[in-house]
Amino acid sequence: CVMHNITARKQMERELRHLATTDALTGLSNRRHFLDQMRAALARHRRHATPTLLLMIDLDLFKQVNDRYGHGVGDEVLRHCANLMSHSLRSNDLLGRLGGEEFGILLPDTDTTGALDFAERLRQRAAHEVIVTEAGTVTVTLSIGLTAFTLEDHHIDVILARADRALYRAKESGRNLVELEPPPE
Ligand code: GH3
Ligand code: MG
Ligand code: MG
Repeated sequence: CVMHNITARKQMERELRHLATTDALTGLSNRRHFLDQMRAALARHRRHATPTLLLMIDLDLFKQVNDRYGHGVGDEVLRHCANLMSHSLRSNDLLGRLGGEEFGILLPDTDTTGALDFAERLRQRAAHEVIVTEAGTVTVTLSIGLTAFTLEDHHIDVILARADRALYRAKESGRNLVELEPPPE
Protein backbone atom coordinates (compact mmCIF):
# COMPACT_ATOMS: atom_id res chain seq x y z
CA CYS A 1 0.00 0.00 0.00
CA VAL A 2 2.88 2.38 0.85
CA MET A 3 4.60 1.50 -2.43
CA HIS A 4 1.40 2.14 -4.31
CA ASN A 5 0.97 5.56 -2.67
CA ILE A 6 4.51 6.59 -3.54
CA THR A 7 4.08 5.54 -7.17
CA ALA A 8 0.78 7.41 -7.37
CA ARG A 9 2.31 10.51 -5.83
CA LYS A 10 5.27 10.43 -8.23
CA GLN A 11 2.85 10.10 -11.12
CA MET A 12 0.79 13.02 -9.80
CA GLU A 13 3.92 15.16 -9.40
CA ARG A 14 4.92 14.41 -13.00
CA GLU A 15 1.50 15.41 -14.24
CA LEU A 16 1.52 18.64 -12.24
CA ARG A 17 5.00 19.51 -13.51
CA HIS A 18 3.87 18.86 -17.06
CA LEU A 19 0.80 21.09 -16.61
CA ALA A 20 2.89 23.88 -15.09
CA THR A 21 5.46 23.92 -17.89
CA THR A 22 3.45 23.09 -21.02
CA ASP A 23 1.20 25.19 -23.22
CA ALA A 24 -2.08 23.31 -23.52
CA LEU A 25 -2.88 24.26 -27.14
CA THR A 26 0.47 23.45 -28.77
CA GLY A 27 2.19 21.13 -26.29
CA LEU A 28 5.26 23.39 -26.38
CA SER A 29 6.99 24.92 -23.35
CA ASN A 30 4.85 27.72 -21.97
CA ARG A 31 6.13 31.26 -21.53
CA ARG A 32 7.22 30.80 -17.93
CA HIS A 33 9.12 27.60 -18.67
CA PHE A 34 10.74 29.05 -21.78
CA LEU A 35 11.94 32.09 -19.80
CA ASP A 36 13.34 29.76 -17.11
CA GLN A 37 15.23 27.88 -19.81
CA MET A 38 16.45 31.19 -21.21
CA ARG A 39 17.80 32.24 -17.79
CA ALA A 40 19.67 28.91 -17.60
CA ALA A 41 21.01 29.42 -21.14
CA LEU A 42 22.23 32.91 -20.19
CA ALA A 43 24.04 31.50 -17.13
CA ARG A 44 25.75 28.89 -19.36
CA HIS A 45 26.62 31.55 -21.91
CA ARG A 46 28.20 33.73 -19.20
CA ARG A 47 30.19 30.77 -17.83
CA HIS A 48 31.47 29.34 -21.09
CA ALA A 49 31.02 32.22 -23.55
CA THR A 50 29.49 29.83 -26.09
CA PRO A 51 27.50 31.66 -28.74
CA THR A 52 23.74 31.55 -28.16
CA LEU A 53 20.98 33.09 -30.27
CA LEU A 54 17.39 34.01 -29.55
CA LEU A 55 14.73 34.04 -32.27
CA MET A 56 11.39 35.72 -31.66
CA ILE A 57 8.75 34.64 -34.14
CA ASP A 58 5.32 36.19 -34.71
CA LEU A 59 2.66 35.00 -37.16
CA ASP A 60 1.81 37.66 -39.74
CA LEU A 61 -1.71 39.12 -39.86
CA PHE A 62 -3.00 36.27 -37.79
CA LYS A 63 -6.05 38.22 -36.68
CA GLN A 64 -7.29 37.96 -40.30
CA VAL A 65 -7.12 34.15 -40.09
CA ASN A 66 -9.34 34.21 -36.99
CA ASP A 67 -11.69 36.79 -38.52
CA ARG A 68 -12.07 34.95 -41.80
CA TYR A 69 -12.16 31.31 -40.70
CA GLY A 70 -12.96 31.41 -36.99
CA HIS A 71 -11.00 30.88 -33.81
CA GLY A 72 -11.03 27.07 -34.14
CA VAL A 73 -9.21 27.23 -37.47
CA GLY A 74 -6.85 29.81 -35.93
CA ASP A 75 -6.03 27.25 -33.26
CA GLU A 76 -5.36 24.61 -35.95
CA VAL A 77 -2.99 27.01 -37.70
CA LEU A 78 -1.17 27.70 -34.41
CA ARG A 79 -0.73 23.98 -33.79
CA HIS A 80 0.49 23.48 -37.34
CA CYS A 81 3.12 26.23 -36.97
CA ALA A 82 4.22 24.84 -33.60
CA ASN A 83 4.75 21.45 -35.28
CA LEU A 84 6.65 22.94 -38.18
CA MET A 85 8.98 24.77 -35.81
CA SER A 86 9.56 21.81 -33.51
CA HIS A 87 10.45 19.64 -36.50
CA SER A 88 13.03 22.20 -37.62
CA LEU A 89 15.07 22.03 -34.39
CA ARG A 90 18.28 20.21 -33.54
CA SER A 91 18.37 18.27 -30.29
CA ASN A 92 19.70 21.11 -28.06
CA ASP A 93 17.51 23.88 -29.47
CA LEU A 94 14.61 25.07 -27.30
CA LEU A 95 11.20 26.20 -28.47
CA GLY A 96 8.36 27.80 -26.53
CA ARG A 97 5.11 29.68 -26.97
CA LEU A 98 5.71 33.18 -25.61
CA GLY A 99 2.12 34.34 -25.97
CA GLY A 100 -0.85 34.25 -28.37
CA GLU A 101 0.79 33.81 -31.79
CA GLU A 102 4.34 34.50 -30.71
CA PHE A 103 7.07 31.90 -30.26
CA GLY A 104 10.68 31.86 -29.08
CA ILE A 105 13.56 29.63 -30.15
CA LEU A 106 16.91 29.38 -28.38
CA LEU A 107 19.84 28.15 -30.43
CA PRO A 108 22.78 27.22 -28.20
CA ASP A 109 26.23 26.77 -29.76
CA THR A 110 25.15 28.63 -32.87
CA ASP A 111 26.80 31.71 -34.33
CA THR A 112 24.91 34.58 -35.92
CA THR A 113 25.47 33.37 -39.47
CA GLY A 114 24.14 29.92 -38.60
CA ALA A 115 21.14 31.41 -36.84
CA LEU A 116 20.32 33.72 -39.75
CA ASP A 117 20.46 30.68 -42.02
CA PHE A 118 18.18 28.70 -39.73
CA ALA A 119 15.68 31.58 -39.44
CA GLU A 120 15.61 32.14 -43.19
CA ARG A 121 14.98 28.44 -43.88
CA LEU A 122 12.17 28.41 -41.30
CA ARG A 123 10.61 31.54 -42.81
CA GLN A 124 10.66 29.97 -46.29
CA ARG A 125 9.29 26.64 -45.13
CA ALA A 126 6.37 28.33 -43.40
CA ALA A 127 5.60 30.52 -46.41
CA HIS A 128 5.46 27.49 -48.74
CA GLU A 129 3.43 25.34 -46.40
CA VAL A 130 -0.24 24.85 -47.32
CA ILE A 131 -2.21 24.17 -44.15
CA VAL A 132 -5.25 21.97 -44.65
CA THR A 133 -7.94 22.88 -42.12
CA GLU A 134 -11.62 22.03 -41.68
CA ALA A 135 -12.46 25.35 -43.43
CA GLY A 136 -10.14 24.83 -46.40
CA THR A 137 -6.49 25.58 -47.05
CA VAL A 138 -4.72 28.43 -45.28
CA THR A 139 -1.23 29.87 -45.65
CA VAL A 140 0.54 32.00 -43.10
CA THR A 141 3.89 33.76 -43.02
CA LEU A 142 6.31 34.45 -40.17
CA SER A 143 8.19 37.54 -39.11
CA ILE A 144 11.37 36.68 -37.21
CA GLY A 145 13.60 38.88 -35.05
CA LEU A 146 16.89 37.53 -33.80
CA THR A 147 19.74 38.59 -31.57
CA ALA A 148 22.85 37.06 -30.02
CA PHE A 149 23.47 36.76 -26.28
CA THR A 150 26.45 38.86 -25.14
CA LEU A 151 28.60 38.83 -22.01
CA GLU A 152 27.24 42.30 -21.20
CA ASP A 153 23.73 40.84 -20.87
CA HIS A 154 23.10 40.43 -17.16
CA HIS A 155 19.40 39.77 -17.50
CA ILE A 156 17.25 38.02 -20.10
CA ASP A 157 15.03 41.12 -20.37
CA VAL A 158 17.64 43.04 -22.37
CA ILE A 159 17.99 40.12 -24.81
CA LEU A 160 14.22 39.83 -25.18
CA ALA A 161 14.03 43.59 -25.82
CA ARG A 162 16.62 43.36 -28.62
CA ALA A 163 14.83 40.44 -30.30
CA ASP A 164 11.59 42.37 -29.97
CA ARG A 165 13.10 45.40 -31.73
CA ALA A 166 14.32 43.17 -34.56
CA LEU A 167 10.85 41.61 -34.84
CA TYR A 168 9.27 45.06 -34.92
CA ARG A 169 11.56 46.02 -37.81
CA ALA A 170 10.59 42.84 -39.68
CA LYS A 171 6.92 43.85 -39.32
CA GLU A 172 7.59 47.47 -40.29
CA SER A 173 9.60 46.40 -43.34
CA GLY A 174 6.70 44.43 -44.78
CA ARG A 175 6.45 41.13 -42.78
CA ASN A 176 7.52 37.62 -43.93
CA LEU A 177 11.08 38.76 -43.13
CA VAL A 178 14.03 37.95 -40.88
CA GLU A 179 15.72 40.86 -39.07
CA LEU A 180 18.83 40.86 -36.89
CA GLU A 181 19.39 43.23 -33.96
CA PRO A 182 23.12 43.47 -33.35
CA PRO A 183 24.28 43.83 -29.73
CA PRO A 184 25.06 47.40 -28.58
CA GLU A 185 28.60 48.65 -29.38
P1 GH3 B 1 0.90 41.31 -37.20
O1 GH3 B 1 1.35 40.82 -38.53
O2 GH3 B 1 1.19 42.75 -37.00
O3 GH3 B 1 1.45 40.46 -36.08
O4 GH3 B 1 -0.70 41.17 -37.18
P2 GH3 B 1 -1.56 40.16 -36.30
O5 GH3 B 1 -2.94 40.19 -36.86
O6 GH3 B 1 -0.92 38.83 -36.24
O7 GH3 B 1 -1.41 40.79 -34.88
P3 GH3 B 1 -2.40 41.06 -33.72
O8 GH3 B 1 -1.56 41.14 -32.47
O9 GH3 B 1 -3.29 42.20 -34.05
O10 GH3 B 1 -3.29 39.76 -33.64
C1 GH3 B 1 -2.91 38.62 -33.01
C2 GH3 B 1 -4.12 37.75 -32.97
O11 GH3 B 1 -3.81 36.47 -32.43
C3 GH3 B 1 -5.21 38.34 -32.10
C4 GH3 B 1 -5.68 37.19 -31.26
O12 GH3 B 1 -7.05 37.04 -31.34
C5 GH3 B 1 -5.01 35.98 -31.88
N1 GH3 B 1 -4.72 34.93 -30.92
C6 GH3 B 1 -3.95 35.01 -29.81
N2 GH3 B 1 -3.94 33.83 -29.16
C7 GH3 B 1 -4.73 32.99 -29.88
C8 GH3 B 1 -5.11 31.62 -29.72
O13 GH3 B 1 -4.72 30.91 -28.78
N3 GH3 B 1 -5.93 31.09 -30.67
C9 GH3 B 1 -6.38 31.82 -31.73
N4 GH3 B 1 -7.17 31.23 -32.62
N5 GH3 B 1 -6.04 33.10 -31.90
C10 GH3 B 1 -5.23 33.68 -30.98
MG1 MG C 1 1.01 38.56 -35.42
MG1 MG D 1 1.72 39.06 -31.89
